[in-house]
Amino acid sequence: MDNSGCRRRRQRVVLFPIPFQGHINPMLQLANILHSNGFSITILHTNFNSAYTSNYPHFTFRPILDNDPKINNLSKLGSRGAGDILSGVVLLNQYGDESLRQELDQMLMASKQEQEPIVCLITDALWYFTQSVADSLKLPRIVLRTSSLLCFLVFASVPFLDDQGYFKQVNSLFDEEIIDSDLKNIILASDENKFKKAGSSKSVKDLEERVLEIPVLKVKDISKMKIKGQTDPSAKILANMVTQTKASSGIIWNSFKELEELELEKIHKEFPIPSFLIGPFHKYFPASFSSLLKPDRSFFTWLDEQAPNSVLYISFGSASQMEKQDFMEVAHGLASSKQKFLWVMREGFVKGSEWIEGLPDGFLDLVGERGRIVKWAPQQEVLAHRATGAFWTHSGWNSTLESICEGVPMICSPFWGDQPINARFISDVLKVGVYLENGWEREEIEGTIRRVMVEEEREGIRERAMCLKEKVNVSLMKGGSSYESLGSLVGYISSL
Ligand code: UDP
Repeated sequence: MDNSGCRRRRQRVVLFPIPFQGHINPMLQLANILHSNGFSITILHTNFNSAYTSNYPHFTFRPILDNDPKINNLSKLGSRGAGDILSGVVLLNQYGDESLRQELDQMLMASKQEQEPIVCLITDALWYFTQSVADSLKLPRIVLRTSSLLCFLVFASVPFLDDQGYFKQVNSLFDEEIIDSDLKNIILASDENKFKKAGSSKSVKDLEERVLEIPVLKVKDISKMKIKGQTDPSAKILANMVTQTKASSGIIWNSFKELEELELEKIHKEFPIPSFLIGPFHKYFPASFSSLLKPDRSFFTWLDEQAPNSVLYISFGSASQMEKQDFMEVAHGLASSKQKFLWVMREGFVKGSEWIEGLPDGFLDLVGERGRIVKWAPQQEVLAHRATGAFWTHSGWNSTLESICEGVPMICSPFWGDQPINARFISDVLKVGVYLENGWEREEIEGTIRRVMVEEEREGIRERAMCLKEKVNVSLMKGGSSYESLGSLVGYISSL
């Protein structure tokens, strides 16, 4: 849809992404969508992770938060792991207030003189501090939530689930094992595979049960979010996110109605503000323009030569990190699956290693014979490639949507946060993937890869994946749900 009439061209929208890859991509895609619908765009950005800005000459960029000495620590953070991201989010939410107010104030004054009023601020849901700043300037704030509706509902239920004892159940089960067992590695264990090996069938059964109030989830999924309960620091971030989203003027979701119909009903009930499901965003504009790392393209000559659906694409996103021993299991499982593969290994992905120096002996001989390893790939192009047969993913929401849009079956190996929720949704509700849910173990890895790549089961998964792909296409066509919702969003912003 392109409604670039001159009436709307004169309205400006200010967008403020969280400076991490999985959040930058959808925000910049949304900015492009709004720009092509007639709005002028300003992006507020930190110098931290701002490599993408030169690819958007049609936007105005304004650096923010970088000159505040209190938040200089941000530049010292990496963006390699969950800890870095959480620290960054907390830090900026804590100290961003004054800088944002000043910046917006100046912009609002200037916009009164230029004939281009700023109509709203759109921020990532995790920028919860921005709501009170926007309120104080009487500027409507719309929230962009970059993950699924289901995940938002689960995060909003953390205090309730805690009161119901779910977190205690999960934490105490693990605590019990740690205390009862002499095995040192159990102390490090955070997945139930290792837990299972320690052997308590009652506990394992409990973990397998469904969460009564959110039956999509199993009890063990709660432990995988890596939140210990409502007093955990990450739960506090989520609680702030939920409260300040409720106080906003609306929510934009990178999802589509047909994907999350039940969840949408609940969102309407629990969050009675306008909701716009206009996704998947990357179908309008690809993510490659906002990539922080330079994608390797050298493997395409090899990929082009491979048979249709014969290559397993492996990528665990922009921020997850893996233990060395798990990395070995992945490599061994992959080797014995005998499948072709394209594996994205970011520098620093394996904890304590620079890159792939920890690979088992002989593995590099396989690379060449039947695989390629790269540091970063143009993921959407790989998923759209006819040779790609399945995607072994960490179940980040962008990756999940990108796979759905190409009808590519998934193997899900979530690490933390929303990923276990997405993985459960993909495997148990949509049934377009298989959840590798018992951690990293070479035999299970080998078996799961073969299930999705070569065994009979793959046909059903592939069929459902293709069906879902079709639904996405319909939703984006004239009269489709995302198309219509985008129209409503454009009208809503114009009316503010
Ligand atoms: N991505 C990419 N190349 C890669 C790996 C990932 O372009 O080699 C992109 C991917 O297409 C997606 C984003 O990085 O848009 C990752 O976002 P996601 O929400 O899946 O996971 P996160 O990185 O936030 O954990």
